[in-house]
Amino acid sequence: MTVITRFAPSPTGTLHVGNLRTALHNWLFAKRHGGRFLLRIDDTDAERSEERHIDAIRADLAWMGLAPDAEERQSARFDRYQERFAELRAAGRVYPAYETAQELELKRKILLGRGLPPIYDRAALGLSDTECARLEADGVKPHWRFRLDTSAIEWDDLVRGPQRFDPAAMSDPVVRRADGSWLYLLPSVIDDADMGISHVVRGEDHVSNTASQLQMFAALGAQPPRFAHEALLTGNEGKLSKRLGSLGVDHFRETGIEPQALLALLGRLGTSDPVEPFVDAAPLIESFDFARFGRAPARFDEAELAAINAKIVHQLRFDAVRDRLPDRMTAAAWEAIRPNLTSVGEARDWWSVVEGPIESLPAEEDRAFLAEAAAAAAMIDWSADPWAQLTSALKEGTGRKGRALFLPLRLALTGREHGPDMAALLPLIGKERALERLGAST
Ligand code: GLU
Repeated sequence: MTVITRFAPSPTGTLHVGNLRTALHNWLFAKRHGGRFLLRIDDTDAERSEERHIDAIRADLAWMGLAPDAEERQSARFDRYQERFAELRAAGRVYPAYETAQELELKRKILLGRGLPPIYDRAALGLSDTECARLEADGVKPHWRFRLDTSAIEWDDLVRGPQRFDPAAMSDPVVRRADGSWLYLLPSVIDDADMGISHVVRGEDHVSNTASQLQMFAALGAQPPRFAHEALLTGNEGKLSKRLGSLGVDHFRETGIEPQALLALLGRLGTSDPVEPFVDAAPLIESFDFARFGRAPARFDEAELAAINAKIVHQLRFDAVRDRLPDRMTAAAWEAIRPNLTSVGEARDWWSVVEGPIESLPAEEDRAFLAEAAAAAAMIDWSADPWAQLTSALKEGTGRKGRALFLPLRLALTGREHGPDMAALLPLIGKERALERLGAST
């Protein structure tokens, strides 16, 4: 069997971290099995779908490195939906219903008031042709429902295990509005069947949709895909928070998060595998397996993401980041500075420390020591580990050691108390600037 997955966002807004995770898992699963990963734009809702959101979705996937093998668009397939809808209608699996939203709401309230589940009573199925014709002559346009049949609905979910639904406890779902526009359920099934989707990977908020959709596959004579419904993400507060819903690629990029960090975290979150700072997606792909996913909500923690991000930045090669670094910054400089970064953007800051100017105000009691340091720095061989030479000369000459030896030097040379390894930094600062900084301090 060829594995084909699809990520099917509705372009009514920007992708949030939960969507990004769904996209990633679809991609990982397809890659794991040498399959294909489709991007399907669910833009049946013409009013709420916007071109700019589609562009943003493509850009977000590109940033994450999740290149779709093909892109499909529901708005280009309305004729096909009409065709299959006509078949279902002829077979009596979709039927017109004429209730207004208010009438349906009233029915719901009455049932709930009696302590009964608010299941649609199928009153529309009882209408005769004449009654339907009369309603339509009066200008009432029907919406359309899919008629569920009575056989029990079962599937073995790749994450949730065996699932069973009783159609008697479900309402016939509305699949088409009175204005002819499509709701999500049926077009999705028609697409999944036509596009040979082998695995539908999505959030557990779709579980009850799957129950209806399985009957639609059967009614269309199509083999249903396998389903994996993943537990939703929660924020630190323990709930699917507003904040989580607002976190998208723009936010991550602005805060210096690398796509690899997002992949590393979202690829493993909710699984029994540890989150590891993979710079390359290969190990994530190899280990991706729905059997490793738990059913408990997975907690997305921005602090964990930042920590993974730092570990990834520490591994990034110069070539991979060069176009985001200051022009004159070299590979040696990147390697010296990298271990101190939590984001690539901070390299600019450290590079400005290297290039200067810097500000440092030495303590009174260090002035004589720094004058000696300036003299020593003029003598050493700058082509071979100048920091080791400088500090050992000063250790011998002044008797200082440890913090008393290193800190005044670091402060005078960088203007800061902490930072990258001085042995790596000093050659970048170079003789001229070092002499100037040490001299200026005296
Ligand atoms: N457009 C649907 C959504 O964004 C797709 C769900 C699915 O994957 O089938 O929720």
